[in-house]
Amino acid sequence: MIKIHLTERQEKIIDIVKANQPITSENIAKKLKLTRSTLRPDLAILTMAGILDARPKVGYFFTGKTVFNVISEKIRGIKVTDRKSVPIIVDEQTSIYDAIVTMFIEDTGTIFVTSNGYLSGVVSRKDFLKSAIGGMNLSNTPVAVIMTRMPNVIVTYPEESILDAAMKLIEHEIDSLPVVREVVLENGEKACELIGRVTKTTITRLFVELGINE
Ligand code: ADP
Repeated sequence: MIKIHLTERQEKIIDIVKANQPITSENIAKKLKLTRSTLRPDLAILTMAGILDARPKVGYFFTGKTVFNVISEKIRGIKVTDRKSVPIIVDEQTSIYDAIVTMFIEDTGTIFVTSNGYLSGVVSRKDFLKSAIGGMNLSNTPVAVIMTRMPNVIVTYPEESILDAAMKLIEHEIDSLPVVREVVLENGEKACELIGRVTKTTITRLFVELGINE
């Protein structure tokens, strides 16, 4: 686990290493007027965080990484598959009315739509509102009529970095991404198996976890 907030002493150690590298733990301890064993946990944290590097018999080096580099590296290392949650799905033939009921029951803002089990579209609160104020017959119109349709759906993949997925949410100004696996059907056409979702809540949760450093 990465310690994101550094103590005053850890900041001092980094400054000493920067100015005197390579430097042994003994010499760092002397400069701080502390014992080596007192310093050991701090050096362990700074090494684990990737801020310092220890070479046997030589001493400590500053790696050039800042705390922010370390956080950034950590976020880039997290894959969509590690964080994805369960998608809320309706079939294309579902009425707009029933899809709205699903949205309330599942307490979600975005629903993914499938045809023959494969992703065919996405429908969100604004789409529903548009259909309602436009006076559509909600009970007799399938959700397929109002959804944003493939290939215009922005998707993410299990192996994609969570940072790239978050950037897609911002860039396209959307709340949710389907996590898909591409498959080739018997007729040679490509289709997307729906295996999860990444939403703004996914990213907010991760942000809070990193913030409270658990
Ligand atoms: P809301 O409607 O709750 O504001 P969004 O901002 O996510 O939610 O949706 C705005 C529009 O973008 C809607 O028309 C919706 O169909 C579409 N949309 C939502 N998610 C995606 C996505 N992953 N790819 C493409 N379009 C999307």
